Amino acid sequence: MLARGTTPGVSTVYALQYGRRAGVRGEHFLGWDSSSGEPHEIAYYAWLVLSADRTILVDAGMDPDREPPLKGWSFRTSVPALLADVGISPAGIDTLVLTHLHYDHAGGVRSFPAARVFVQAAELAYWAGPAARRNAREAWLLDHQDLRHVVALIEGGRAVAFAGDGEVAPGVSAVLVGGHTAGMQIVAVRTATGPLVLASDALHFFENLETDRPGTVLHSMPEVYLAFDRARELARGGPIVPGHDPSVPDRWGFRSRSGLPAGVTRLA
Ligand SMILES: [Zn+2]
Repeated sequence: MLARGTTPGVSTVYALQYGRRAGVRGEHFLGWDSSSGEPHEIAYYAWLVLSADRTILVDAGMDPDREPPLKGWSFRTSVPALLADVGISPAGIDTLVLTHLHYDHAGGVRSFPAARVFVQAAELAYWAGPAARRNAREAWLLDHQDLRHVVALIEGGRAVAFAGDGEVAPGVSAVLVGGHTAGMQIVAVRTATGPLVLASDALHFFENLETDRPGTVLHSMPEVYLAFDRARELARGGPIVPGHDPSVPDRWGFRSRSGLPAGVTRLA
């Protein structure tokens, strides 16, 4: 059902939208202004990167068995359910990149028994360290079960903790940017039409980049701005895909969704 890259080191990319929730602008854009009370919807994604011989999942979504900490969902499914819709079983994922360890990106990490997992050492060190539990502004975003699971995978040799940038697969690179979290990484993918950057929560919405305005959830403000710059550098004029923008399917157009199950959009 899904297309794959046909030349070595070249991949196709799909967005998997697993949820949508009502919110207000003040929850999503830093700094109070007169529009902060206006409704502002948020969507939740994981992404698939498919080369001829690799099936890479970028982020694992939420644990479908856990109650999410936020309310207001208009719908919610799971990443494994979306993968099943496109004919990929959990064991068919050979590589899983965790852009960061927030519950809505790492919550499904236990669902993929064959995946080699890539995470940043700085992300693990922060969440395992003494400050994270005291920082109430961030602490609610980590589920300690996810952290324990990733640590166990590292000890078992099935996860890799990068100390900086690293190659995940030919044509697929993880780039440490920080900002949103201590060890936030973004993913640069070589596609048939040029580079594409999966920015995940380095930007939540296109508007963050377009107005140079950080989101409300962040670990280091200076690094948020540098992450915007790094995403632009890596994209070289190509697409930069935000982590939570409901308009992703529309921006990529009807042709990118036709023939695909609900929630699945081809990005490249
Ligand atoms: Zn997120």
